[in-house]
Amino acid sequence: MTENIRVRFAPSPTGYLHVGGARTALFNWLYCRKHDGKFILRIEDTDLVRSEERMVGQILDSMKWLGLDWDEGPFYQSERFSLYDAAVDKLLSEGKAYHCFCDAEKLKVMREEARKKGGAFRYDRRCLHLSDEEKQRLTEEGVPKAVRFLVPEGETAVSDAVHGDVSFNHKEIGDFVIKKADGSPTYQLAVVVDDHDMAITHVIRGDDHYNNIPKQVMIYKALGYELPIFAHIPLILAPDRSKLSKRNAAVAVSDYEEAGFMPEAVRNFLALLGWSPGDNREIMTLDELVEAFDLPAINKANAVFDVKKLEWMNNEYVKLLPKEDLFARVKPILIASGLTDEDFVANNAAWVEKIILLLQERVRKLTDYPEAVNYFFNMDFDYDEKGVRKQFKGPETAHMLAQLVARFEAADDFSLETIETIIRELAEGLDVGAGKIIHPARLACSGLTVGPSLFHLVEALGKERTIARLKRAIEYIKAS
Ligand code: GLU
Repeated sequence: MTENIRVRFAPSPTGYLHVGGARTALFNWLYCRKHDGKFILRIEDTDLVRSEERMVGQILDSMKWLGLDWDEGPFYQSERFSLYDAAVDKLLSEGKAYHCFCDAEKLKVMREEARKKGGAFRYDRRCLHLSDEEKQRLTEEGVPKAVRFLVPEGETAVSDAVHGDVSFNHKEIGDFVIKKADGSPTYQLAVVVDDHDMAITHVIRGDDHYNNIPKQVMIYKALGYELPIFAHIPLILAPDRSKLSKRNAAVAVSDYEEAGFMPEAVRNFLALLGWSPGDNREIMTLDELVEAFDLPAINKANAVFDVKKLEWMNNEYVKLLPKEDLFARVKPILIASGLTDEDFVANNAAWVEKIILLLQERVRKLTDYPEAVNYFFNMDFDYDEKGVRKQFKGPETAHMLAQLVARFEAADDFSLETIETIIRELAEGLDVGAGKIIHPARLACSGLTVGPSLFHLVEALGKERTIARLKRAIEYIKAS
């Protein structure tokens, strides 16, 4: 690489970090790490009314959770107003921008008129044509004034790293505000001044900013700045192809953290929203993602956020967790759920770990554990209703379970082999398939119709707990 790659993530702290923003941050991060560049974090808080300090904390926490570390910043736009003022003054002095005294009321009327005529609103430049005396009079009267950029005729043509060559006719673009009457810069101005000042080489961001290309490029040119490379990445849609929003999905990264997803899985999932390595790989380590990531491979088409796929992926990551790591993560979850406590876990570590391992393949999220292992710790679980109808069929089942209890009670040991032999011999004696015993016994021991192999389940429960659960089921069947 001859060039020093510098990318940035520039969230506005008006809400939580949502999955779209996180995906933008991730693409920047991957690109930067691949090219040994620098990742800059900039907080775009020029909108003093809508920006919230606590949201900055939330956004940074979510980025840390995802492992997206930054090299410079966070820089706050609210602390950089002098830079924006200088740029605006330069544009004013060169006749590339002008003061506008039109207030919200006047602009509303103009918009209304444009709407009636059936056209899009473009500012009619009435303030550009004010005489010097008029401007002086308005200024002396203290009429608030904004600054508008004077849009030149022609078109803006650039090559976007995702969209290819694109052009925008300036006819569609009215003179836009770069500094508000309250003295604050607008996004269009601040983003250009900062990207230049921070020597950003690649602007990688969501397609919702695609239409900002011409305005920003015009400002770059007017200020004599070198253009960065733009890469506008596809939007993320809900499965029904509507806009992904709070109404159809959890959108905050912190929602996924709270729901018990693993950051590694969320990161891997986000990386595949709008990008793929070009082969069929889906589960990829961070190093593999960095190695494979590139801008030309990003899709133009919008990506679909499928939470089922995230759940599948999370399960894959749970399966990959080394034992010790798995235990360290799950024990606190079990304790926090109230299923057990620190002392019990400390005194029965081997047993707790055995149970955790037994369910490793089956939980989609680590937070599914308390529910998945409940029956090991408690006996007051409900029986799956469908299962009851199918497996608890009256006196013969109760009788069969009673025989199983008797054989378990008489057993000298409770090894996997012994358990299996007892069940198979009982089946033979009754002249039924082993399933006829296994399914009711599973329901009796766990309340569920699915789970780990029954032999393993019973072995992990141990003799005493198994017998207690079988007796409880016998009573339940008799009573119904
Ligand atoms: N602050 C903008 C946003 O949150 C990002 C602007 C940009 O990346 O150019 O959408």
